[in-house]
Amino acid sequence: MPLNRRIVIYPGSFDPVTNGHLDIVQRACRLFDHVVVAISHNPLKSPLFSLEERRELLELALKPLIRRKKVSVDVFDGLLVQYARRRGAGAIVRGLRAVSDFEYEFQMALMNRHQTPEVETVFLMPDEKYTYLSSTLLKEIVRMGGEIGRFIPPALIPKIRQKLTAHRFHNNA
Ligand code: ADP
Repeated sequence: MPLNRRIVIYPGSFDPVTNGHLDIVQRACRLFDHVVVAISHNPLKSPLFSLEERRELLELALKPLIRRKKVSVDVFDGLLVQYARRRGAGAIVRGLRAVSDFEYEFQMALMNRHQTPEVETVFLMPDEKYTYLSSTLLKEIVRMGGEIGRFIPPALIPKIRQKLTAHRFHNNA
């Protein structure tokens, strides 16, 4: 299948999605016709949220863009570049928050290019207010009983709190 320069894959763990991820999706939507948000099935990372839960949260957060067919949410297993090829996507987008992200992202982008030169990696920077935000930090704040209203869409807050409370209860039981 010829690669479509107008379709981009945004891969990640999204454990769970944050406003930082959503900021990148919105920026990618301005550059590409369609963004496939692809949840990686990587059990080695031991995600807290199941694939289905992560997909549900992303679909809730991205509902208007999904309805307009600008965005779709999918799950992928195996090599990202092979997945991009299967989807006919010509590009991969990743978010860069700080210099600390750079080394890993650079290495991965070059490795992906080595395997599939026709798929280009594009880096986008989020709004400054999200540069210190990560899914890991978000989960920590919830666990400590902190305020997360600025970091995720309001509709997702009850589901995320519920999951983390259940998880803590389960682990303490
Ligand atoms: P992964 O395990 O693949 O890094 P993540 O869900 O942590 O999955 O991140 C997916 C992508 O989103 C990565 O490119 C990461 O740099 C980016 N990202 C994560 N949080 C933010 C944020 N707050 N602002 C911008 N980009 C982000």
